[in-house]
Amino acid sequence: MSQQYNPFDNVVAAIKKAAAILEYSENDYTRLLHPEKELKVSLPIKMDNGEVKVFDGYRVQYSCTRGPAKGGIRYHQNVNIDEVKALAAWMAFKNAIADIPFGGGKGGITVNPKELSAGELERLTRRYTSSMSYMIGPDKDIPAPDVGTTPQVMGWIVDTYSMINRIYSPAVVTGKPLPLGGSQGRVEATGLGVFRTVLNILKKLDMDPKRVTVAVQGMGNVGSYSAKFMYEEGAEVVAVSNSSGAVYLKTGLNIPEIIEHIESGKKLCDYNAEGVEHITNEELLTLDVDVLIPAALENAINEDNVNDVKAKVIVEGANGPVTVAADDILSARGTYIVPDILANSGGVIVSYFEWIQNQQNYYWTLEEVNTKLLEKMDKNFEDLWTLSKEKNITLREAAYVIALERIAEAAKPRGIWP
Ligand code: NAD
Repeated sequence: MSQQYNPFDNVVAAIKKAAAILEYSENDYTRLLHPEKELKVSLPIKMDNGEVKVFDGYRVQYSCTRGPAKGGIRYHQNVNIDEVKALAAWMAFKNAIADIPFGGGKGGITVNPKELSAGELERLTRRYTSSMSYMIGPDKDIPAPDVGTTPQVMGWIVDTYSMINRIYSPAVVTGKPLPLGGSQGRVEATGLGVFRTVLNILKKLDMDPKRVTVAVQGMGNVGSYSAKFMYEEGAEVVAVSNSSGAVYLKTGLNIPEIIEHIESGKKLCDYNAEGVEHITNEELLTLDVDVLIPAALENAINEDNVNDVKAKVIVEGANGPVTVAADDILSARGTYIVPDILANSGGVIVSYFEWIQNQQNYYWTLEEVNTKLLEKMDKNFEDLWTLSKEKNITLREAAYVIALERIAEAAKPRGIWP
């Protein structure tokens, strides 16, 4: 990328656009341009070789107007405060459009977790949890996994928080391992929601999912399940990528085989099968496909590559994968973009179900979870589509209008303290 993109600028631009459509005065939304609380901590860790290393950790509570803050924790070498602020803000809007009673938050540590041993990762997670322990809690702020964090990391957070507070508190995080109060269906929920969103938009566009071609950027949690469900539906998933590289097969890749290859610890760029070509990560984004699912990191589609993007439909699996400038160009060209805050909300919806199950100590079957999830995804998409047609605005604008209105409507009767 020839230019640095600040993802927080994307959020501010989207909020201001929605406020203008709603004809809000600045007083109605100005507090939503500022995070409520930002925490930055230094995390000294004794490494296995005896050396002491210090990592930076963050937690941002963007808005708690509609309920406790909720949002994941990212372990990645590029984590910084602007990224965490943007991710926290997106969570506030995502939870509002998902219509679940949470505000938005996000956290992270600037670290490449692949470079740490399991013991170092555990010590880092426990230190981070203790540093933010006064800020999080089942009724205050409920973290979850994001890029680079796993159910195991959530397990260490539950244990540390429970030991500090002397009370077993599984509801302090979601995305936990099942024996610790995790929910059925949580691991695949985001990908399942992305897949359902693809089906929903294809139906509106009168396109048969069995006849479409798909490219997926980022074969991690979200990307793998999105690709798997599309493959099982009969679509031709022609290209997938991860940080090691991308593979392409015109007639459609064998996705279960690729997932097995990655899960066995091999690099995607070393995957070979008859006819499979190796392409660059950049080439994947500009393939002539019906559906592109960016499911890696933010700013993947930006001013530098947007003119080469040919997909008819983009369903945002990742948070913030399309910059504001790229979004304007694509929308003017008639590309349908289903925004992140709707498309990838399946994860936080099932996180909400997990939190309810923990609070009630009563657990649901996979079928119950998935039925409730898909009902919500369908209704939320329908509301979005209807508003976008009614007001002749993009799907992203419609999403922010719905979410902003819900947050503002909750803020009004609360007033401003003191
Ligand atoms: P993950 O760590 O499991 O996967 C990320 C994948 O992206 C990895 O396979 C990585 O190799 C790949 N990647 C990184 N840079 C790349 C590049 N330049 N080109 C191609 N691939 C690249 O993370 P995840 O949980 O799947 O999250 C992915 C995105 O989805 C993030 O934006 C995250 O915030 C968002 N998200 C995740 C969830 C969830 O439940 N996990 C929910 C909502 C949104």
